[in-house]
Amino acid sequence: MASTVQFLDHLEANVDTAAVLRIQGYRGHREPKAGIREITARQAQLAQQLATPKAIYREVQILAIDEGTIRLEDDLLLHVGPRIAQWWCGSHSLALALCTIGGALEERVMALSKKGDHAEALILDIAGSVALASVADQVRRFICEKASNSEIQVGPALNPGYREWPLTDQQLLFSLMPAENIGVRLNDQFMMIPKKSVSFCAGLGVIKTLQHFNRCDHCGVSKCPYRRGDKQSKTD
Ligand code: SF4
Repeated sequence: MASTVQFLDHLEANVDTAAVLRIQGYRGHREPKAGIREITARQAQLAQQLATPKAIYREVQILAIDEGTIRLEDDLLLHVGPRIAQWWCGSHSLALALCTIGGALEERVMALSKKGDHAEALILDIAGSVALASVADQVRRFICEKASNSEIQVGPALNPGYREWPLTDQQLLFSLMPAENIGVRLNDQFMMIPKKSVSFCAGLGVIKTLQHFNRCDHCGVSKCPYRRGDKQSKTD
């Protein structure tokens, strides 16, 4: 493999209290009680303190994009499915990224649950997801800026487990990145440990840029509290 792995530093875990409230269902005219607002603000601050953001990045050459697969260097095959293959059509390389906020936050969530502080535990867990999303956003921005400097168009950032792409392909992504260097591993079910970790890929050199692409618009998971935007899923 020719490309080198980059460790991204200067990442920040930003947790907006309003975002944590939104995920709890407080949106539109639905206002939280003062007690919930106060717990949420406290857990949002705690999430920022407990998070230790880290990320790694690399680019891998694409040899071919077929109907539903992406063939990489060393004959590695990703089974992304026809829709993602179409979204990444024309790409010459695949950007791979792995981000985490570490395991301290989920340890605190477990400790709170054990003590019976279930509301605090639940809200801290949501705040951790918001922290992780903010780190992933910064990594996506890094990829877009890097590509833009080389006048390359970037496709949507997507991951195994999304649409037709089987979660089992996580194993392949992990074989391409030294995940252990940022303290992340896969369990037998291909889930990441620590849980507040995320991997994603994006096609580099796509023919067609999908302006304002929102992955939630094409996701079949119904009633997802983390859904971005107002649209319900349209699984085309
Ligand atoms: S709807 Fe939920 S599961 Fe689907 S892409 Fe959006 S955040 Fe992820």
